Amino acid sequence: MADTLRAFVCGHPVAHSRSPLIHGHWLETHGIAGSYEKIDVPPAEFPAFAASLAARGFAGGNVTIPNKEAAFALVSRRDGAAQAIGAVNTLWFENGELVGGNTDAYGFSANLDERLPGWRSAGMATVLGAGGAARAVVHALAESGIGRIAIVNRTAARAEALAAGFTGAEAHGWDRLDDLLPSTDLLVNTTSLGMDGEAGAGLDMALLPDSALVTDIVYVPLETPLLAQASRRGLRTADGLGMLLHQAVPGFERWFGTRPQVTRELRDLVVADLGGGH
Ligand code: NAP
Repeated sequence: MADTLRAFVCGHPVAHSRSPLIHGHWLETHGIAGSYEKIDVPPAEFPAFAASLAARGFAGGNVTIPNKEAAFALVSRRDGAAQAIGAVNTLWFENGELVGGNTDAYGFSANLDERLPGWRSAGMATVLGAGGAARAVVHALAESGIGRIAIVNRTAARAEALAAGFTGAEAHGWDRLDDLLPSTDLLVNTTSLGMDGEAGAGLDMALLPDSALVTDIVYVPLETPLLAQASRRGLRTADGLGMLLHQAVPGFERWFGTRPQVTRELRDLVVADLGGGH
């Protein structure tokens, strides 16, 4: 057991996390003697949990809601993405120090590279939502060189705060969508609208150009109302599951020393699990 590499996902609640399924699959396919544990850590206990990691033999792990900002505050060092996004979702050790990274932007971009090649040459992206996940998406879009990023959110102040941190980003209210859609090359939903069969964002797809690409980072259901509408309109789409799968790659490589692949087999495994509820 002494040679077993250990990693974890911690959150509160954490029961719904698919990360153990993803990392468990990779440990098995690569024949690595390692473990990936699901640990429920309420916010008040997070600092003590983080301080105990080295003594407990963890190589690192994932941090999920609501501990990502606390992780950001207490690590010794952060990577560039975590710094830009303001949240840490991956922890590892370097020279005995706890380091924090954020792999959500990487996961978003890698998913689109796979599913919507050409997305990086979009002139304008419209992002629905301005919550925690939207920060990672806007960072990814800005890094890819997309010159204009319109952030549309119900709460205007939140969109303004997000736009202020990124070159080329601008904030809008929901009422501006009809003006923005005709020049949108890439439409991204990051709002929780559309989850669990809630009504779709209710926007007029006909206003988008025929060449527009549409993606949703919500992956329950896999085909959200927005993606269904876009497909009916004949637009190219990418669902949000690939983001979840790809964001796991850099962490696995850091803890277990092997860069894993996002395969059809892995996707099918997670899709089957989603089918069983969440
Ligand atoms: P969050 O911080 O709570 O933000 C939620 C966003 O949705 C806000 O912009 C909020 O607007 C908007 N919203 C919620 N209800 C709305 C409504 N009824 N009408 C209009 N806007 C509404 O959540 P988050 O962490 O960003 O996560 C958002 C979604 O992304 C979740 O479904 C999550 O599962 C998914 N996600 C997926 C991945 C992946 O790997 N695929 C990664 C991270 C997150 P206000 O600001 O006005 O409240």
